[in-house]
Amino acid sequence: MSQTKDLYEILGVSRDASEDEVKKAFRQQARKYHPDNKETGNEELFKELNQAYEILSDPEKRSVYDQYGLNGLRNAFGDSESFDFGFGDLSDIFSQFFGGATKTRRSSGPERGADIRYELAISFLEAIKGCEKQITIQPLEDCGSCKGTGAKPGTQLKTCKTCNGMGEVKRVAESFFGHVTQITTCPSCNGSGKTIQNPCIECNGKGQKRVKRTIDVKVPCGVDDSSRLRWGGKGEPGRKGGPPGDLYVVVNIKEHELFSRNGQDIVTQEKISFSQAALGGNIKVATVDGEKTLQIPTGVQTGTVLKIPGLGVPKINNMARRGDQLIEIIVETPTKLSAEEKKIFEQLALFQEDKGKKKFGFFN
Ligand SMILES: [Zn+2]
Ligand SMILES: [Zn+2]
Repeated sequence: MSQTKDLYEILGVSRDASEDEVKKAFRQQARKYHPDNKETGNEELFKELNQAYEILSDPEKRSVYDQYGLNGLRNAFGDSESFDFGFGDLSDIFSQFFGGATKTRRSSGPERGADIRYELAISFLEAIKGCEKQITIQPLEDCGSCKGTGAKPGTQLKTCKTCNGMGEVKRVAESFFGHVTQITTCPSCNGSGKTIQNPCIECNGKGQKRVKRTIDVKVPCGVDDSSRLRWGGKGEPGRKGGPPGDLYVVVNIKEHELFSRNGQDIVTQEKISFSQAALGGNIKVATVDGEKTLQIPTGVQTGTVLKIPGLGVPKINNMARRGDQLIEIIVETPTKLSAEEKKIFEQLALFQEDKGKKKFGFFN
């Protein structure tokens, strides 16, 4: 419940409203906000209203609330659950009040199977090109031995004593409307109307078992890390004729030592030597399509990004539309020189010194 709203405000009554006034205000507001009311229904407000009324209609709770507020109530009546009562019960009373249906959710009808989530690790290249994988899942399925009934094969189910096989029980509840009859799912048989005498040994009477299933999944080319792929109907089977759940495969892409992804582009780094940088020329570079030739322009600087078009990440499931490979050039300064190399560098240095002298000749 909203902690800031005043309960009296929610009901729209003054702080000294009589019990009758509280009741009357509640009735009015409840008609307005009941979720069945198509024009002004509002489930949130309706819940708030119920909770406000539950407190203000109880003289003891109301007096605690008046003095100490909601937190005081919580302390006085234990946890918040004590007054944060279920929506289900009251809505039943209201359904009757408004002449609507009175049934609560029954678990005896068809149930949709649960969804299954599976984390699949694949390599960088598999993500780029797409791949096929076999995964093993363990869905909960109806026990084959008892056909999902939970009873030992050959034994009879007994009619539930609590509900006489109806699957639901009536309960007369006290409300300010007088006595109202609530119909709820039978707690003994969960709405099936039958109880098990001899439980199935295979599933311990549960009617379901975990089974291993191997499934082939096709990961399309171009998937990104954490992509969620869905296979409708490949989750857990439904019960009592309900539809199956879905299978979700979450793709985790392992890092690659050379390639990384930036949107639709694949990014790599390429180290070249001083002389390669100065002279330019062709070098071999790794791409996801194998080795390719890259032309280095003369005088390339470190940090320059060169591009091989069309060798990037494809659009999902469309190998024909791909981004580019971006290659960042790193010019390496040599750390160890052979005697011969040293000689050449020294000559180069002398030559460059001469050039420098010419440039700064005006100093002399
Ligand atoms: Zn069984
Ligand atoms: Zn029953």
